[in-house]
Amino acid sequence: MRKLSSATDPGTLASWIDGGYEGGDRALAAHARRVMLEEVGPSVHMRGLLEFSNECRCDCFYCGIRSSNGRANRFSLSVDEIERVALDCLASGFGSMTIQSGERRDEAFLEFVEHSLVRIKAATRCADLPDGLGITLCVGEQSRETFERFFEAGAHRYLLRIETSDPGLFRRLHPARQRFDRRVRALQDLKEIGYQVGTGVMIGIPGQDSTSLVRDIEFFHAIDADMIGMGPYIAADGTAAVEMERRGLRPEGSARERLTISLRMIAATRIALPDVNIAATTALQALSPTGREAGLAFGANVMMPIVTPQTNRQAYQLYDGKPCIDEDADACSSCTARRAAFVGRPVTYNQWGDAPHAIRVPKEAV
Ligand code: SF4
Repeated sequence: MRKLSSATDPGTLASWIDGGYEGGDRALAAHARRVMLEEVGPSVHMRGLLEFSNECRCDCFYCGIRSSNGRANRFSLSVDEIERVALDCLASGFGSMTIQSGERRDEAFLEFVEHSLVRIKAATRCADLPDGLGITLCVGEQSRETFERFFEAGAHRYLLRIETSDPGLFRRLHPARQRFDRRVRALQDLKEIGYQVGTGVMIGIPGQDSTSLVRDIEFFHAIDADMIGMGPYIAADGTAAVEMERRGLRPEGSARERLTISLRMIAATRIALPDVNIAATTALQALSPTGREAGLAFGANVMMPIVTPQTNRQAYQLYDGKPCIDEDADACSSCTARRAAFVGRPVTYNQWGDAPHAIRVPKEAV
């Protein structure tokens, strides 16, 4: 496994996250962009993000669609609907899609996911993409056997956020049955199976500081992550809001402060782990209308325009103020391309856009 670069010892990274980069945040962003250009290039990779079901067995205290939220309007798309969205992604030139849902482990759900993967692959093979759309799967913590089934069915990337690498903070955010060690084991299983693995954290959790965030970066490195998705910790509505209040988990600091720390964290991660893919997440935009552009300016290179059918978007609110609820897939697609162009970045079309970290032959193997 590659080492963190010597320019990024933990103390230095922590000082950058605290705002101590010499020359300020603009200089930090410029540093991150230089590293990005050298290691992953200027391109922004698009993944159509389909939220296909908001049913979830978990009860993460901060989440708007947690299982105990009886007011959530639950939905699940059919395989036909998923295939139609995949074909729309293909027509839009997205080389990849991310398919996401809450976590379920019942056999009916596992078979549904498997079947959907096979259908997406079969429907999207073409001259530009002989193996169909690249698929990133994000359906929570599963058994190793299940991960293997999904891999066989066609998913080659998997997103599973650790949310925080601090076991104590993790415990405060989740009920006792959702265990930190199991989440770590799942990430290790994914890597061993051969997935390109994505993870990430929330930024601005009460009790989290720059030392804790640097440990998050070290965690990304330790599990050999290929993709990182991070965003500010944002209050959710409904039962989650009540639970957050009760447990002292309300977000601290202004929206601007949490956005600033998130952007510094993106830059620090880019500099520490130069060749991974880093997403400019939608959550950044929940705190500022130009949050995603700022994410790109601080070294992110992936955007995920939402392609969930417009009628289901309202029901997939993991946090309050989630943007793009009222738009349709076409609007999201052209909007994200405009945002990339606004910061002078080209968009790649009809390519999977894997991270160089994932496809590079390790030096020791040469
Ligand atoms: S964060 Fe994910 S796993 Fe947790 S309750 Fe929400 S949808 Fe379910």
